[in-house]
Amino acid sequence: MSSLLVADTVSKSFGGFTALNGVSIEVPKGSIFGLLGPNGAGKTTLIRIINQITMPDTGHVQLDGAALAQHHIRDIGYMPEERGLYKSMKVGEQVLYLAQLKGLDKSEAKKRAKYWFEKLEIGNWWGKKIQELSKGQAQKIQFVVTVMHNPKLLIFDEPFSGFDPINANLIKDEILQLREEGATVIFSTHRMESVEELCDHIALIHKSNKILDGEINHIKRQYRNNTFEVGVEVDKDAFAKAESQLISKFQTTPAQFKSLGEELKLRIQLGDQGSPNALLQELQSYGQVTHFVEVIPSVNDIFIQTVNQSL
Ligand code: ADP
Ligand code: MG
Repeated sequence: MSSLLVADTVSKSFGGFTALNGVSIEVPKGSIFGLLGPNGAGKTTLIRIINQITMPDTGHVQLDGAALAQHHIRDIGYMPEERGLYKSMKVGEQVLYLAQLKGLDKSEAKKRAKYWFEKLEIGNWWGKKIQELSKGQAQKIQFVVTVMHNPKLLIFDEPFSGFDPINANLIKDEILQLREEGATVIFSTHRMESVEELCDHIALIHKSNKILDGEINHIKRQYRNNTFEVGVEVDKDAFAKAESQLISKFQTTPAQFKSLGEELKLRIQLGDQGSPNALLQELQSYGQVTHFVEVIPSVNDIFIQTVNQSL
C-alpha cells in the first residue's frame, strides 16, 4: 500500500532540548494512524512540523510523494491541541470564513456546513458566539471546520480530550466514516487505552524517540504470548485438587476477568510449546468450561514492555 505521508528522520530541538530525535513514520493511504505516547513525548511537535507551523532541524516530510510545500496546507485538515476559534465571532460566520480560507466558495461552504451541522445535531448553535458554548461544544465546531473541505489528510491532535464519553464516541464514529470515504487520518493521544479499536497503524513515541511502529494487529501478534484466561465450574469437593493440579502444571496468575459464578478461574501462560486445544481438553475433564479467552496485550501493555526493554 502506498504512503500518503512520509516523515523521514525528523529532528527538532528547542534551545538545548531535543523534542524529536530522528523520528520516521509512514502513513498508508486510507489508514487511521495513531501517534501514541505520554505527555511531552513529542507528538504535537511532529504534528506541527507536518502542518508546516514548525520547521524541522533535520529530516524531510513528503505528502503524496512530493516534498512538503505551502500549497499542501489545503490538502490537510488539522485540529490543533490548543483549539483556536475566535471567541466573540458567531459560529456560522466563523465556519464559513474558515472554510473559504481552505478554498471553498461561499455557497459550497454553506452546503457543507449545513450537512455537518445536521449530522452532528448542532444546527441551533449557528447564531451563537463561541464563548457561549461549552468546551466540548466548541470542539465539535472545530471538528467540522477541520473536515469540511474534504482534505485528503486529516490530523487530530488529542481529539478526545475535552469531550465527554458520548461525544468522544461520536467523534470516533465520524473518524471511522471519514476513513470509509477515503480520507487518511493521523491522530495523537496520550490515553492509549481509549483508542485501540480506532487505529489500524500506530507509532509509539517516548521521550522524543519512536520506540515501535507498525500495523496494530501485526504488533499485537508479535507481543501475544500464548496466555489464556479460563473459567471452569468444578464441584466443591474436587475444586482444591483441580486448582492445585493446574497451578503445579502451568505458569499461572490470578485471573482478572469478572464473573457472576464461583468457578475456578486462572490466567494461564502456556509457554512456547503449549497447545490451547490441549489445555481446553484438560479443563473439560474438571467440569463445565465457562470461559476460555486469549489474553491479547493492550497497546498500553506493549508500550510499557517496550519502554522497559529499551532501558
Ligand atoms: P506531546 O504532544 O507528545 O505531549 P510536545 O511535542 O508538545 O509533546 O512536546 C515535546 C517536548 O518539547 C516537551 O517537553 C515540550 O515542553 C517541548 N516543546 C514543545 N514545543 C516547544 C517550544 N516551542 N519551545 C520549547 N519547548 C517546546
Ligand atoms: Mg501534544
